[in-house]
Amino acid sequence: MFTNLDRTDTLVHQGKRKRLVEELIKKGINNPLVLDSIRVVPRHWFFPKDFEQFAYRDAAFPIDHGQTISQPYTVAFQSQLIDIKENSRVLEIGTGSGYQAAILAKIGVELYSIEYIKPLLEQAASILTEINPQIKLFHGDGSLGLSKYAPFDAIIVTAGAPIVPETLKLQLKIGGRLVIPVGNEKENQEMLRITRISETHFNQENFGDFKFVPLKGKQGWEI
Ligand code: SAM
Repeated sequence: MFTNLDRTDTLVHQGKRKRLVEELIKKGINNPLVLDSIRVVPRHWFFPKDFEQFAYRDAAFPIDHGQTISQPYTVAFQSQLIDIKENSRVLEIGTGSGYQAAILAKIGVELYSIEYIKPLLEQAASILTEINPQIKLFHGDGSLGLSKYAPFDAIIVTAGAPIVPETLKLQLKIGGRLVIPVGNEKENQEMLRITRISETHFNQENFGDFKFVPLKGKQGWEI
């Protein structure tokens, strides 16, 4: 079991989070809802006790099954890009550790999160039910979205895709945003934001290079 079973949150942890937030502000994160969320969500709960000292560094960290808990800057940057408001309906593709789901849910959105690797989803669920039991978790291929609960105000993909899946674009509301890293499987990906302008028109913006684990599934790199 990867996660921390000691679910305490001390003044020391809170102080480390405050410093992490200051670091993110210096790096350009300025959305108050996102910063407030990072200030309160205990990232060390998503780490095993022995590695807790790494929880408040602005760095990605390996989790089970060859996956990663995303760097706090990346979590904040993606969350900021979708410009979510309270009560927005949001789909996260790639629950992973559950940390980003906790950040998004703390903002007050109606969060749906889907993960391909079942044991990872189960670990994430064990923490997320304590943090916010309203988060709706699913096991499956998120490259196809979650049509039953569409349309969404925002979709965040937390793994690198070869293309922008049409299926995901079509699960956005008009005005909705899809944030997805797209590029080479082994190298960097470009962070794209696709905004649905109308039934048939989409606007695409590019926010530069990031590095993610590959998106699997029918619209990903492998089945
Ligand atoms: N947001 C996560 C966090 O805060 O820990 C980071 C997730 S990690 C960078 C990417 C995750 O996407 C991995 O857990 C991986 O198993 C998952 N993933 C990859 N392809 C997927 C797919 N087609 N559907 C759902 N999840 C997928």
